[in-house]
Amino acid sequence: MTSTEIRQAFLDFFKSKDHKIVPSAPIVNKDDPTLMFTNAGMNQFKDYFLGNQVPDKRRIADTQKCLRVSGKHNDLEEVGRDGTHHTMFEMLGNWSFGDYFKKEAIAWSWELLTDVLKLPKDRLYATVFEGDAGEGLPEDSEARGFWEKILPADHVINGNKKDNFWEMGDTGPCGPCTEIHIDLRSDEDRLKVPGHELVNMDDPEVVEIWNNVFIQFNRKADGKLEPLPEKHVDTGMGFERLVMVMQGKKATYDTDIFMPFINYIEKQSGLKYQHRYAEDAKSDIAMRVVVDHIRAVAFTIADGQLPGNSGAGYVIRRILRRAVRYYYSFLNIKEPFLHTLIPQLADYFQGVFPELKAQQVQVARIIEGEEKTFLNTLENGIARFEDLEVTDGLIAGEDAFVLYDTYGFPIDLTRLMAEEKGYRVDEKGFEKALQEQKDRARADAAKAVGDWTELRSGEEVEFVGYDQLAVDDARI
Ligand code: ATP
Ligand code: MG
Ligand code: MG
Ligand code: MG
Repeated sequence: MTSTEIRQAFLDFFKSKDHKIVPSAPIVNKDDPTLMFTNAGMNQFKDYFLGNQVPDKRRIADTQKCLRVSGKHNDLEEVGRDGTHHTMFEMLGNWSFGDYFKKEAIAWSWELLTDVLKLPKDRLYATVFEGDAGEGLPEDSEARGFWEKILPADHVINGNKKDNFWEMGDTGPCGPCTEIHIDLRSDEDRLKVPGHELVNMDDPEVVEIWNNVFIQFNRKADGKLEPLPEKHVDTGMGFERLVMVMQGKKATYDTDIFMPFINYIEKQSGLKYQHRYAEDAKSDIAMRVVVDHIRAVAFTIADGQLPGNSGAGYVIRRILRRAVRYYYSFLNIKEPFLHTLIPQLADYFQGVFPELKAQQVQVARIIEGEEKTFLNTLENGIARFEDLEVTDGLIAGEDAFVLYDTYGFPIDLTRLMAEEKGYRVDEKGFEKALQEQKDRARADAAKAVGDWTELRSGEEVEFVGYDQLAVDDARI
């Protein structure tokens, strides 16, 4: 099956179970100060779980654009190095708001994976929450009971609070979850050891594909759990990982979601993709980073967040610059390049996220402009980096600041380049230099805007005018 057919099969399946199929929420979260980017399918339904709003339909399914590059979920460093973590990915999800619960959710996930999608039953495992009497959390014997009707008992594995108990925050709705994993080891590896069919869940070839969360408690301020009157189901399955297993691959990059883009980069760079994951597989890592990062950047811009100097805009600029540096240093590409991937990307997503196709030209133009700006200083910045005096493997904070301020190197790019050489960066020193610069800018602006600014005795700015905001924004 193609990836497009697999996505459709998921949505059609839940439609046949009476779910309403809704569009993805934007990847950028403009209204929620606690969350910069959407990082899970449930984000847009938060108010239903909190009881602030009542859904017009109790069963919903969709595919959600997610981004995990900041906050609690930050997978940026894994990208390109492993074959299962992306910055932007699609999370397939089905929800029950006070409707069906564990029995149906588990039975349907099994039906979809094994009847509809025909995944091999003997390679599937489920984890269930083991409970923690100390905190008064009960073991999820219900979920285990439903799984044991389907799976042999030794394929149902207990998991701890970290992996198998989901909480929205310190207080609020929460509950145990059950995660489905698939064993992708070769038959040869599986048969090598006695008890071969059983897995170590930490084996990188055993891949988590689907999380089913059962929201059934409310965590109160005193830490106690009380049962919720309404119980909910919240699930998330990594679309790229599902396609990977469906297409018999060991990495998401080897699927039809990414390979056409990798093939295009091979042509443009004259380099061959070798499917290698070692630290020294520089051009392979670079190709994976580029095909991953362009999606994050393109969809964030299409959803209305331009690259900029602060907040979400700076996160996107950092990702974009990271990709530029990868193609410049490891793929031998010295001209703006990311933007040339946009037409193909827009076509691939036309049927599912049409917002990119609709703004294809503008998005490509913005990316090209960003690339040009950074490429103007990149070569000199790299030369400067190569010339740095490094003492005891440590790059001075002042030097990292010059790279940032003069050459536009985000600190995480400098850190990455340092790591490649086995160096570290004095990040505290960098922060200090950055703060000093901000203070200078603030003082200058205070002089400039006169009446608009009141200073308290400790030089702390209490009220600032709009000019000040503009200055701050440009310096962060
Ligand atoms: P992992 O342990 O692999 O990092 P997770 O436990 O953090 O995944 P969940 O928060 O449970 O992930 O999200 C639900 C599903 O989304 C996961 O089971 C996985 O299939 C998928 N997923 C999570 N993070 C990523 C990512 N960075 N890239 C691609 N898919 C992901
Ligand atoms: Mg994770
Ligand atoms: Mg996990
Ligand atoms: Mg998980």
